[in-house]
Amino acid sequence: MSNTLHPKRDWQQELIHAVTDPDELCRLLELNPQKLQTAAGKTLANFPLKVPRGFIARMQKGNPADPLLRQVFPFSAEDQKRQHYTADPLREKNVNPVSGLLHKYQGRVLLTLTGVCAINCRFCFRRHFPYAENNPSQLEWEKIFAYIKKDTSIQEVILSGGDPLLSNDRVLSALTERLSTIPQVKRLRIHSRIPIVLPERINEAFVAWISSLKQTPVLVTHCNHPQEINETVREAMQLLKQAGVTLLNQAVLLKGINDAVETQVALSEALFSAGIQPYYLHLFDKVQGAAHFDLELARAKKLYRQLSHHLPGYLLPKLARETVGEGAKTLFGT
Ligand SMILES: *Cc1c(COP(=O)(O)O)cnc(C)c1O
Ligand code: SF4
Repeated sequence: MSNTLHPKRDWQQELIHAVTDPDELCRLLELNPQKLQTAAGKTLANFPLKVPRGFIARMQKGNPADPLLRQVFPFSAEDQKRQHYTADPLREKNVNPVSGLLHKYQGRVLLTLTGVCAINCRFCFRRHFPYAENNPSQLEWEKIFAYIKKDTSIQEVILSGGDPLLSNDRVLSALTERLSTIPQVKRLRIHSRIPIVLPERINEAFVAWISSLKQTPVLVTHCNHPQEINETVREAMQLLKQAGVTLLNQAVLLKGINDAVETQVALSEALFSAGIQPYYLHLFDKVQGAAHFDLELARAKKLYRQLSHHLPGYLLPKLARETVGEGAKTLFGT
């Protein structure tokens, strides 16, 4: 295979045709919907099923426990209200000085470009965050630029969301043009699950944009299981690597999905062979409706210790948790 991606595939078309009906997803995977116990209509209305077909193609047919399916299928376990699980576990609303901007850590700000994603991950800690209200308008954009300009300690701008790569290339270009007039901003980091779940997004126009940036580009992908990486993902990563983009990955530690040592080892190796460096392994944030993904801290630490015995240091992600009010993520040793 050459490094050019399939020219007929358009990511926006793929997005429009994403599967949103649990019954359709079951049909495609040859599963009996009656046996799967789907979440209540109210849960689904608040946070619908959404998954691109290219991601479904990486799932195993007839397997209700498939690790990719379990990340996206709305099971009835989500309907249970659990103590100590909240709608905004990171209390992000407290570090939101301007709409669309989070400034929590020294030297970097995080912009929430959009509240929408190409896929709805059931474990997402932002599943209840009011991003619709947090989508910056034109006026708010001016406030964001003014905020960054004024604080000369801000060296890095992180595009996050939602998924920032749902913005089209024109919007991204306009943004980075503007940022390039602020001299202290040296790096542009993108946090996106799209290069994994919708790799068609990494087309020639996108690569041209990212290659032309004045800021040094870093892309942090989000991949939780080695089965998520296929040939299309590898080709997309190859294009980005050739364009000089630093590629990192963050994963979330999820019970029943990637909480086995072999799975984590295979994930690090699959990422590395695709040109991506493991960066963070996040402990699950206690978000309401997703308690069934939560792994006890003692078990997580034990798994991490074992993992450190199986991987070279550079393939071991940092085990981290977001702590309210701290100046950095909390890291756990081996
Ligand atoms: C995680 C996070 C960052 C980035 O932290 P790094 O340790 O630099 O990866 C920045 N801002 C917010 C609000 C975050 O949650
Ligand atoms: S892509 Fe990221 S932000 Fe979007 S639902 Fe999944 S985990 Fe959450």
